[in-house]
Amino acid sequence: MWPLAISGVQRCPARLIGTRTIEGRQPWEAHMRDGIVIVGAGQAGARAAEELRKQGYAEAIRLIGSEPHLPYERPHLSKEYMLGREEIEAIFIHDERWYAEHSVELIQDTVVNADLSAKTVSMGTGARLAFESLLLTTGSEPRRLAVPGAELSGVLYLRTIEDARRIRISLKAGGRSVVIVGGGWIGLELAAAARTLGNDVTVMDAGDVVLGRALGPEAGGYFARAHRAHGVQLLMGEQLAGLEGAEGSVVGAVTASGRRLPLDVLIVGIGALPRTAVAESAALPVDNGIVVDAALRTGHPSVYAAGDVANAYHPLFERHIRVEHWDTARMMSRAAARAMVGQSVSYDRIPYFYTDQYDISMEYWGSVGRAGFDQFVWRGDPDDGSALGFWLQSGHVRAGMSINIPKMGKLIEALVRSNESIDVEALVDVDQSLESMLPAAESA
Ligand SMILES: Cc1cc2nc3c(=O)[nH]c(=O)nc-3n(C[C@H](O)[C@H](O)[C@H](O)COP(=O)(O)OP(=O)(O)OC[C@H]3O[C@@H](n4cnc5c(N)ncnc54)[C@H](O)[C@@H]3O)c2cc1C
Repeated sequence: MWPLAISGVQRCPARLIGTRTIEGRQPWEAHMRDGIVIVGAGQAGARAAEELRKQGYAEAIRLIGSEPHLPYERPHLSKEYMLGREEIEAIFIHDERWYAEHSVELIQDTVVNADLSAKTVSMGTGARLAFESLLLTTGSEPRRLAVPGAELSGVLYLRTIEDARRIRISLKAGGRSVVIVGGGWIGLELAAAARTLGNDVTVMDAGDVVLGRALGPEAGGYFARAHRAHGVQLLMGEQLAGLEGAEGSVVGAVTASGRRLPLDVLIVGIGALPRTAVAESAALPVDNGIVVDAALRTGHPSVYAAGDVANAYHPLFERHIRVEHWDTARMMSRAAARAMVGQSVSYDRIPYFYTDQYDISMEYWGSVGRAGFDQFVWRGDPDDGSALGFWLQSGHVRAGMSINIPKMGKLIEALVRSNESIDVEALVDVDQSLESMLPAAESA
């Protein structure tokens, strides 16, 4: 928990840069009127604050977050932490001292409204803060089940430290029947952790193959084989129809085809939704997230958005994309911070994602989704332990991934960025160098 509670607003004891009393304001509003307010003290929010100070921004920075923790990185929650190999202390982005030393004021509260003409945000506790510029990094939240029984106790989701603690307690002793609804990233990472800890695991998904929406059938099929080889039961093409309870707790799942699955633990990983309520309160453009341009600016010149919540125009892909990945939260928020201090920004980083499941370490660069490619090829055989995979459209590499081959980022990014037609036969031939397939300037 953050240490101090002032008028219902808990703060880290940060040194405020210059304060002045503004007549008629409450004590917590009596700081400098100028400055940047960041709503959402997650990864994107914390990295933006860090970048603002790095760029020499000397006015007030206020980082407002609903969670009772210092900003932290979520990826470990479903991996090292879930496996008991790491404790929570390892995931905080900075310790408390860093915020104090950099005069970043942490405020634990929930912003309920932003008034862009008054340039203020209002919080759940009734406090109001003024800003010169506003950054929205409100992230995303798990999509909830909408089936009979969804309200039963024991229906678990994973987003926060508290969620992870609950799930870890359920899994750590092993020997339990675990049903996971959703064969996406969170579902599969939890399946891997649950199996590794000695539980019986069933993953149910409405699609034909796990990760089908993100990767398509070939790469998804590889992950399906890996999970089956570790003893996970995959129920594909199965939709959850309802949950059964006993004394208020979930004890079973029923599929649309009528299959009944008794269970000890039910975990739901059916995707996430951008948290756009604050943007909507300010009538900012929202369409699958907060719509921003390549400089991460919304329709209002002083309001920016970054991270999971931002649907940003990508100059290379020439369309808006919303990316729910760690690297985007980390780098897009820094770019937004630079734009906020007046630098010229055009955020065109190739989206990057990683996952760790069993002994698989996978990294991915690009953005294709289900419909953004017409060909998928392997370079090497992933079932032998390592390989590269490429998604192509009309002979152009649109995305690439590495399975247990480190340090492929620069090359794969360059292939995606080059936007040139590639010799696919050479691409899949492990005896031919990938560098030779790059345009001359990029391979030099
Ligand atoms: C379990 C898990 C595992 C993951 N693993 C990976 C991985 O392996 N690889 C990868 O690339 N990505 C992974 N991700 C995704 C990655 O963690 C996210 O992309 C990243 O956390 C996004 O950061 P963010 O700051 O945009 O949003 P968030 O992390 O969601 O932070 C937003 C914060 O804003 C707060 N907030 C929201 N609304 C308000 C409000 N109105 N007022 C105040 N505060 C508010 C929220 O409480 C939250 O703390 C994982 C995510 C999860 C949940």
